[in-house]
Amino acid sequence: HPTDTTTALDTTPLTDAEVLLLRRDFPALKQQVNGHELIYLDSGATSQKPASVLDAERSFYEHDNSAVHRGAHTLAANATELFENARATVARFVGARENEIVWTSNATEGLNLIAYGMSNASIGRGGADAARFVLREGDEIVTTEGEHHANLVPWQELAARTGATLRHIPVDDDGALRMDEAVRMIGSRTKLVAFTHVSNVTGVINPVEELVRLAHDGGALVVLDACQSAPHRVLDLAALDVDFAVFSGHKMLAPTGIGVLYGRSELLDALPPFLTGGSMITTVTLDSSGYLPAPQRFEAGTQKVSQAIALAAAIDYLTAVGVDRIEAWESHLGARLVEGFSALPGVRVLGPGVGVHRAGLASVDVDGVHAHDVGQFLDDRGIAVRVGHHCAQPLHRRFGVTASTRASAYLYNTTADVDAVIDGMGAVRSFFG
Ligand code: PLP
Repeated sequence: HPTDTTTALDTTPLTDAEVLLLRRDFPALKQQVNGHELIYLDSGATSQKPASVLDAERSFYEHDNSAVHRGAHTLAANATELFENARATVARFVGARENEIVWTSNATEGLNLIAYGMSNASIGRGGADAARFVLREGDEIVTTEGEHHANLVPWQELAARTGATLRHIPVDDDGALRMDEAVRMIGSRTKLVAFTHVSNVTGVINPVEELVRLAHDGGALVVLDACQSAPHRVLDLAALDVDFAVFSGHKMLAPTGIGVLYGRSELLDALPPFLTGGSMITTVTLDSSGYLPAPQRFEAGTQKVSQAIALAAAIDYLTAVGVDRIEAWESHLGARLVEGFSALPGVRVLGPGVGVHRAGLASVDVDGVHAHDVGQFLDDRGIAVRVGHHCAQPLHRRFGVTASTRASAYLYNTTADVDAVIDGMGAVRSFFG
């Protein structure tokens, strides 16, 4: 398996000096907003892009633009090679084989692809191989109270289409999964367990190995939402032993419009397709069609070629910096965010408090001030944060709030950026008070 290509890892955090140097690679970060140098702390929503990624996409259109997997001309061959090399780059990055990587337009599409594939299996498509995907009344899908809507709504719809029951592992007051409840809930009726690796609201890192073990002990499939982990930490999907995983390119320095679905090859080959049409077939008659093996059977229609190539350039960039070093740096920034926010009167951090390991993001509720006002106040200082429910309404409801303000860091954020948002947050209440 390709995972044994890993070399010795460097886990020393980046330094502020290094971050300031690499920040120069990001054109969008070299601007003033409302008279201040932009401080971009909204990478949890989407990341900025380095020049090498923009160049890769531009270069494709300038030199190689062509449809892939078709045509006998040189440009078509070049485009196909770049496109498939990009798949290999992604596969290496997450510890997968090339045929286990399916291009999607984003993580949301990947999750829907699984859900619709399972629906199709439930109506008899896909033949005997698809039996594992069939859901019936009495079967259960387990997800959690802490999911992004992308990893919740498709399962609600799948349950509605098949008669299966959807259950949710609750979180505790700190946003950690109630593993005692998970043990009770995941059993022989469970067909699928879908959960996020890292919460986009609290930064909580879920116990993947434990959940995988529980799911597999009962024979259930595991879907990992890796949107907030793939960009920020070394991910070895084969070692984690998940069955499926999804993530989005735009959160990891790549353009919008490209996402990844990972699936174990034997499962992908058995899962009925979601979208059908050109490029995913073997033989077509007027009445029926044969489908290519994975990944092509899931890649109907003209593909996201320039975006995939740019995603490979993004992965090259992240790899050159060192994903372990990025993770260590963001861990430092996350801890500093939580310490700073927690020390402010009237500011409540959603999720674990000081001293608990978390990703480089934190969401807060400011007593008496709506998150939108907080966001506007910070924007006046050139600080970009996310406000609202971050597509996680049930989790916000669990914390007794409808909205929060989230600061999320990435490899181009300095300690000073974090201090600026803490300082700004400290000034919010006196301003609106
Ligand atoms: N899951 C998590 C944890 C996320 O943070 C996001 C993005 O906000 C998504 C899923 C959905 O990603 P996309 O909108 O790119 O499909």
